Amino acid sequence: MKRVGEVTNRYLINVNTNTDETRAIEPPPSVEECPMCKGARHLRVDVPYGHPFFGRLLPCECLTREQDERAFTELERFSQLDPFRHKTFENFDPKVPGVDKAYNYARKFAQDPQGWFVLIGAYGSGKTHLAAAIANYALANRNQALFTVVPDLLDHLRSTFAPASDVQYDELFERVRSVPLLVLDDLGTENTTPWAGEKLYQILNYRYNEQMPTVITTNRPLGNVDDRIRSRMSDEAMCEIIQIQASDYRPKKMGERLDKRPRKPQYRR
Ligand SMILES: [Zn+2]
Repeated sequence: MKRVGEVTNRYLINVNTNTDETRAIEPPPSVEECPMCKGARHLRVDVPYGHPFFGRLLPCECLTREQDERAFTELERFSQLDPFRHKTFENFDPKVPGVDKAYNYARKFAQDPQGWFVLIGAYGSGKTHLAAAIANYALANRNQALFTVVPDLLDHLRSTFAPASDVQYDELFERVRSVPLLVLDDLGTENTTPWAGEKLYQILNYRYNEQMPTVITTNRPLGNVDDRIRSRMSDEAMCEIIQIQASDYRPKKMGERLDKRPRKPQYRR
């Protein structure tokens, strides 16, 4: 799995702008010339004088398509979804007692992500499976999503903050903060330093103010979460909180594991 620290500046582009500067970071690969813009990558629109687009250059479809592709490539590099790629709604068992409410809401959220969805559950309750399924669903439908495990995310942010880092801290922070769908797995298990706690708060506070779709899983009661984050979670108009009651989702699945990954070795004490 690629770690965030392996991403180089070469791939960091600002997908929100169409400036020449953006394209200059990495020239487009030589592909067949676009028949619409003949390689100019921008088009003047045929509109009458007085129209807001009159005389303006608009990005050609070929440019927006390429920018979308780059955004996906970049998100894949930042994402920690690789170990959870196979976790989908199709291989989640909604009949396990205690998971149906979370499962139904997760499906609904995946189809139309709005606001925040907080999943509370014990270790092995299936919450990470559902969170990963939401991210996988978005990516399968070509919607931008970032799945990240909170303690690892904070480690990555710390390492990119180091002067010798390849990745610019600002770029990574901005990417996580503003991705259309953010999935944060395992909130509350991070070993919070004041710095890390502040970064996490800044990310979530931004997404709260901008009302950006965000999925958060935690195995802790919300009482352990930063007061400022908890107060945003308590906004019922914005945030749906569902506690998975299943004592353990995974052991029930042992006999019919859909999970093809090798199991962790069991050591005797
Ligand atoms: Zn074109």
